[in-house]
Amino acid sequence: MSSTESPRPKPGIMDIAAYVPGREKVAGVDKVYKLSSNESPLGPSPKVTEAFAARNVDLAAYPDGAAHELREAIARAHGLNAGNILCGNGSDELLGLLCQTYLAPGDEGVFTEYGFLVYKIQILAAGATPVSVPDTDLTANVDAILAAITPKTKLVFLANPNNPTGTYLPVSEVRRLHAGLPKNVILVLDAAYAEYVRRNDYEAGIELVSANANVVMTRTFSKIHGLAGLRIGWMYANEAIIDACNRVRGPFNLNALALIAGAAAIGDRAHVERAVEHNEIWRDRVCTALEELGLAVTPSVGNFVLIHFPQTAGKTAAEADEYLSARGYVLRRVAGYGLPDALRMTIGSEEANLGAIAALKEFMA
Ligand SMILES: *Cc1c(COP(=O)(O)O)cnc(C)c1O
Repeated sequence: MSSTESPRPKPGIMDIAAYVPGREKVAGVDKVYKLSSNESPLGPSPKVTEAFAARNVDLAAYPDGAAHELREAIARAHGLNAGNILCGNGSDELLGLLCQTYLAPGDEGVFTEYGFLVYKIQILAAGATPVSVPDTDLTANVDAILAAITPKTKLVFLANPNNPTGTYLPVSEVRRLHAGLPKNVILVLDAAYAEYVRRNDYEAGIELVSANANVVMTRTFSKIHGLAGLRIGWMYANEAIIDACNRVRGPFNLNALALIAGAAAIGDRAHVERAVEHNEIWRDRVCTALEELGLAVTPSVGNFVLIHFPQTAGKTAAEADEYLSARGYVLRRVAGYGLPDALRMTIGSEEANLGAIAALKEFMA
């Protein structure tokens, strides 16, 4: 054994650009409005606090590794079979689990140009080859995705709606994408923002999963349910996929508090409705205000908007970010997504939205 050699990660790992989360603090600024991670300004349902108070959680005991109660609650809320649901420590864990389960070195995982960065990270972590497909007008392009499929392709990721663009594909396009895939390729529909979408031509993917053995839908409690801090996600898929992923996942991947909170939150439809209403009203107002400032905004169906800045010195996205941050309004830089001239803004509380707009107005003046 040579003592001069140091441990080396397996191939692919050092190609990963580590995920950079939205900032939450600004040096020297006391009050920060965090509009950088698409969290809910309404927070979680009051039923979550009630459930914690009503249950005497034994923190010395392992949680239910099969997440029975949570899966039953999700199944009830969505009219699904609990046996087709697998819960995760955030949906991020499930995206990784799918890669670990279905991708071997030499295999390819496909995702879209401005798609969620976690796909590429997890494909590389599995030792497989990431394949990025160009978007058209910041929207996934089904023909381009289908053209990228090779005999090595095993997974295709589609965030619908997509983060950070806020754009979406209608169900007809998602069906066309699925119809064009070989039967051994899994289409992963990441529907993290599904609840926010109020469009007749949108579907999160439940029917596609129910009808096909090679479609997975992932969902999260981090956005509309206001529980990002507890890390709860779930996926819906046919039994063979659930069975395979269950063999790979950590045996107690959700903690005891997350299991209780998730079950309580998903039953509170009124709270979800309130969050959607707030988002509808404020997304409209924010977009109108931004456009009045002369800024282009990509039409969004999610709880965030992508704002495009000019390349003129003094008015760039990087400068806007600095200006806003110094005043406590923290948006998300998306240069890592190949969008150096844009910032993503989460639709926040009334106070946060109005404050951010006022600061942007000063900045643009
Ligand atoms: C926020 C987000 C998720 C959710 O991640 P969690 O791990 O469940 O918090 C998944 N996909 C996309 C596209 C997201 O924006």
